[in-house]
Amino acid sequence: MPLRALIVEDSEDDALLLVQHLREGGYAPRWRRVDTPEALAAAIEAEEWDIVFADYTMPRFSGTRALALIRERGLDMPFIFVSGTIGEEIAVQAMKSGAHDYVMKNNTKRLLPAIERELREAQLRRGRKRAEEALRLLQTVTQAAAEAGDVPAALTVTLEKVCETAGCALGQAWLPRADGVAIECSPAWYSRGGNRVGFRTASLGFAFAPGEGLPGRVWATRQPAWVSDVTQDDNFPRAPFAREAGLKAALGVPVTAGEEVLAVLEFFLDKPRPQDAQTVDLVAGVAAQLGSVLQRKRAEERLHYLAHHDALTGLPNRVLFTDRLKQALVEAARRERLVGVAFLDLDRFKTINDSLGHGIGDQFLKAVAERLARCVREGDTVARLAGDEFTLILADMGHADHAAHVTQKVLDSLAQPFSVAGHELYTSASLGVTLYPLDDGDVEGLLRNADIAMYRAKERGGNTCEFYAADMTAKAQARLALENALRRALERSEFLLHYQPVVDLKSGRIAGIEALVRWRHPERGLVPPAEFVPVAEETGLIARLGEWVLREACEQCRRCEHGADGTPPRLAVNVSPRQFQQGSLLKTVTRALEDTGFDPRRLDLEITETLLMQNAESVLAAMRELGQLGVRFSVDDFGTGYSSLAYLKHLPIGHVKIDRSFVRDIPADTNDAAIVTAILSMAHSLGIQVIAEGVETEAQFEFLRARGCDAIQGFYFSPPLPAEELALLLKVGRPPL
Ligand code: C2E
Ligand code: MG
Ligand code: MG
Repeated sequence: MPLRALIVEDSEDDALLLVQHLREGGYAPRWRRVDTPEALAAAIEAEEWDIVFADYTMPRFSGTRALALIRERGLDMPFIFVSGTIGEEIAVQAMKSGAHDYVMKNNTKRLLPAIERELREAQLRRGRKRAEEALRLLQTVTQAAAEAGDVPAALTVTLEKVCETAGCALGQAWLPRADGVAIECSPAWYSRGGNRVGFRTASLGFAFAPGEGLPGRVWATRQPAWVSDVTQDDNFPRAPFAREAGLKAALGVPVTAGEEVLAVLEFFLDKPRPQDAQTVDLVAGVAAQLGSVLQRKRAEERLHYLAHHDALTGLPNRVLFTDRLKQALVEAARRERLVGVAFLDLDRFKTINDSLGHGIGDQFLKAVAERLARCVREGDTVARLAGDEFTLILADMGHADHAAHVTQKVLDSLAQPFSVAGHELYTSASLGVTLYPLDDGDVEGLLRNADIAMYRAKERGGNTCEFYAADMTAKAQARLALENALRRALERSEFLLHYQPVVDLKSGRIAGIEALVRWRHPERGLVPPAEFVPVAEETGLIARLGEWVLREACEQCRRCEHGADGTPPRLAVNVSPRQFQQGSLLKTVTRALEDTGFDPRRLDLEITETLLMQNAESVLAAMRELGQLGVRFSVDDFGTGYSSLAYLKHLPIGHVKIDRSFVRDIPADTNDAAIVTAILSMAHSLGIQVIAEGVETEAQFEFLRARGCDAIQGFYFSPPLPAEELALLLKVGRPPL
């Protein structure tokens, strides 16, 4: 049995005698004799020993000093006094000072069993120590990794602890790429001294396929791999760099979660070394532990991401937006810079969503998000707060002009058509901008300002940007009050209808009447629809209001007829795009018709051109079904959109109504005159009748009659009238135009 024995002994003969005994006992000792503290120190420095035998007293040295010297160095090897002169007292003292045993030189019978026992115990002690070390390493790694802020930090701390415990010169981590075709060196690494930068740089430049190099091999096999000397290994492309960095033996271990390899850890020693099962087990154990920590970390990171991002667009959500804004303000205060906060609301998103469905609405929002992200600088933030509401943080601005520049860029970018699932969609946005620190000093105030400015942009018709001004706050409060008042008005039935006649230009008779809603406000008197219909549309109150208008109009007009011959005029009712939502319009209309007994063939529903432009199947289906009942549609405010008339052909469209803005300046404005003439000839070629709105003067009237316009509506003939006045007008008639 091999035995590395260090003998502290002044007498060569005694040492040889001892060696003789060992041989007789079946050992094959490799031994060295020392008799000075220096020689002892050099011997334990140079080699590892299994056991130390020491004489008790020597001329230039003593056994107890030798023992102290060994213990000082923290070495735990069996130490046995072998002495001829040892008395009982000395023996007791020797044991107290930490020797494992003492044996009289002349009592060799005790020597062999003592050696055997001490070696066995030393081995047990070493095993226990290693187990404790492993446990401690596992615990510290698990704890440190769990406490690390993110995955890279957890990797770094693990590399550091393993290198220190296992005496490795360098440790680094490799991460499989998302596409799964290669594994790449991560920024996490640890090195104990030495110049390893060259090797690190080389490693960072490599990407290994499965099976390739040490990381690729561990990744593919999901097993630890040991290389005794990488500079001699065929499957180690980094060998020249390793040689330069003085790295020899290497160990790669996989960090796994289930079947998946999350990372590969790679450790290097600065000496060649054959595979050491204990080190492999220890490091593999740490890696396994790290696997579950990383898996948890990833789940946490995912949760964190979800809590801070909008699931649809991947943009920051309100939480992260607020966070970033706070940061931006702190930073700007420190550097004396400006921060712009912009609120953005799409102008007609509801129409897209209601008419084309949520699937397309979602895709459209994603496309908008992408465009917005391209309008800002790195360091700025685009967030989505809800629905079609986006916000921008323009951080670190030197001048307010920059905000104007970016918002114009946003408006321009959104003005380009979107192509979503085969639909060509147009949009525009209303933007409100506020500036820190000029308008307000805190997050809440800035958000309120931006919101107010955005509403101001909406009020101005959208597709524009408003910068916050202090007097806007009052207007915003007024708008909120209006919204609340509208809700109450519905409950208290404060609405009523006026009717405006539509006059047929051939017969000169009232061919139809349009129902126009008014609000009898307890303090303000009659409020026109322009002041409350947009708010009702935005808040969704339009559904209830619209239903009421329809029933009331059908009810009031069921019996109205011309006094002369008892023919009933047609009834036109305005319908907001929002009323098409979820097919509810069809139900509302059929129910109102049934309940009031109004003849569907006398009903015209006025819809906007933009609703038709969305070309939504759900809208077209509802129109066709209502068409089956005999209901017709009129395209209101025609000419303000960009629609061509051709697509109206297959729909139950009875009329188009030329928008007031084109009628206002005819015949003087040749441009408008040309547009009106073109609409007339196109509509007639499709068999659709044309009503001109807002006719106020004789000149307009004559122009339209001469061009073959079918009917007119406007103050020239009559303003909208209360129901009783209209009934009177129908009864007694009016001098023909
Ligand atoms: P509209 O459907 O285009 O209705 C015509 C508007 O032009 C009416 O305004 C009418 O009073 C006005 N008008 C008529 N003749 C003349 C004229 O000669 N000169 C001028 N300057 N104006 C004239 P009103 O009643 O204020 O309604 C405004 C808009 O409100 C309507 O435009 C319609 O879009 C909406 N609206 C009215 N009632 C309802 C309703 O019950 N439901 C819905 N969804 N919208 C409605
Ligand atoms: Mg109308
Ligand atoms: Mg109109």
